[in-house]
Order: sequence, then structure tokens, then C-alpha cells
Amino acid sequence: MDLGLKGRKALVLGASRGLGRAIASALAAEGATIYAAARNAQSADLADGVIPVTLDLSDRNSVDALTKRLISEGGVDILVNNSGGPKPGPAAGQDMSAWASAFEQMALSIFAITDALLPAMIARGWGRIITIGSSGVVQPIPNLALSNGVRGAISGWSKTLAAEVAAHGVTVNMILPGRIETDRLRELDANKATKTGMSAEAVRKASHGDIPAGRYGTPEEFAAVATFLASKQASYVTGTQIRVDGGLVRGF
Ligand code: NAD
Repeated sequence: MDLGLKGRKALVLGASRGLGRAIASALAAEGATIYAAARNAQSADLADGVIPVTLDLSDRNSVDALTKRLISEGGVDILVNNSGGPKPGPAAGQDMSAWASAFEQMALSIFAITDALLPAMIARGWGRIITIGSSGVVQPIPNLALSNGVRGAISGWSKTLAAEVAAHGVTVNMILPGRIETDRLRELDANKATKTGMSAEAVRKASHGDIPAGRYGTPEEFAAVATFLASKQASYVTGTQIRVDGGLVRGF
């Protein structure tokens, strides 16, 4: 199937590893030109058709410099908003500066990038804004209060924006990973192992047991959903959240 991505330009944030890297590779394989953003641009040097660019989501000057450059190069058709996840920890007693920095890196920076790149999409009458969230938006994950809280705000923003730009041919959606096997997931499992005294293998086995599919997802399975949402075929899909979680979340 031709997904209509040849010749499209995409900016993928957090593209040096994990979900962002897999999405950048999948879109590049469909013939899109990718700006792959990472704090260290060299780490996002993936393949032909991929242009590594520097971006630190915690630094507004870095955000402004990149958006200015992209606007001067005609903007992008597809924006994949992805960021590093915050440190684990509870809601009670959480440091206010940790809330502020998580909000800056995960929410304000992507709001600013989207706002800067949106006018060119509207002018062309075609755009795809895809934001990576978490299953914690639907069912908050214990001990990930910063992630659960900030992503709730992003979810409200994404849904509001979708209705504002739908008539201009710009779709705005979120993909919610459950447990996809990336370095971050391995780090969270190691953190749990240290906290509980269980072995990393026992943590992993117990975690697989919570998932109806009986395993973690792969970054490639996740990226396939992002690629569909970026495609021409997904033109009437907007304002949605698609979970990629092997059935982990039991609610609708
Ligand atoms: P990851 O930690 O493996 O990758 C995150 C990417 O963001 C990396 O490329 C990292 O370099 C980049 N990044 C971090 N801080 C940055 C900054 N200040 N500026 C620019 N780039 C920065 O995580 P992942 O597993 O690929 O997950 C991606 C997102 O999805 C995260 O926000 C994560 O919390 C969320 N998520 C992942 C899962 C999962 O199962 N993997 C589940 C739920 C939510």
C-alpha cells in the first residue's frame, strides 16, 4: 500500500533512541525526509533521508533555534512530538521544581514547537501532528506521578487543538504506549528491581504477566501505528488516542 509519505517532510523529536528512533526509521523507509532531533545530533544520524538536528527540549533557546530553521526551510508536513519520560516517583511530596521541569520539557516545549510549525501546515491544507503519550493517561501508573500528571495536560491540549485545525486538513492525534521494550522500559524495570529486591528477570516476568499479549511490544510495532497516522489514508482520523499496549489497559 502506498502511504503517500514519499516527499513528505517530518520532524521527529527524541529520535536518538527508543520510540522516536523507531518512528524516524519507519517514516524514512516510506520515503519521507526526516529531521531527527536529539540533544546530540550525531546520535540521531540514522539512514539516508534522515537529517540529524540538535534539540534540547529543556532549553527554550534550542527550541526556538530549531523551529526558526525549519520555518525558513518551508516547515514540515508531519510533526512527531516525543520526549524523554520523567523520573519515577509518587505524587505526594513531589518536588515542585521537578513538576516545573517535567512540564517545560514534556509539555511547554512541544506546545511551542507545534505552534511554530502549524501555520505552514494550515497554509498547505495538510498536516499530521502525532504526540506520544502513555497508557498512564487512561489508567495512571503507580509511582509515575510526573508522567501521569503532565501527560494529562498534554492530552487536553491535543484534543482541543484537533478540533481547532481539523477543517484545514491537519490531524492531531496521540499514541499511548503501554510497555514497549526500549531503554527507558529497561531502566524502569531495573529501578523496580532495586526497590523491591526482586531480580530484573523476575520483574520482567511479572510485568509480562500483566499484559494479555504476554510480552512487551517492540518499537517497530509502535512505529507502525505512527506511520499509519502520518499517512494519507489516516486523513479522517483526528482527536483520537490510540493505545499500543497488548491489551494492558482493561477499560475502554
Ligand atoms: P527513551 O528514554 O528510550 O527515549 C527518549 C528519547 O527522548 C531519547 O532519544 C532521549 O535522548 C530523548 N530526550 C530525553 N530528554 C530530552 C531533552 N531534554 N531534549 C531532547 N530529547 C530528549 O524513551 P522511550 O521508551 O522511547 O519513550 C518515549 C516516550 O514515551 C517517553 O516520554 C516515555 O516516557 C513514553 N512512554 C514510553 C513507554 C514505553 O513502554 N517505552 C511507555 C509509556 C510512555
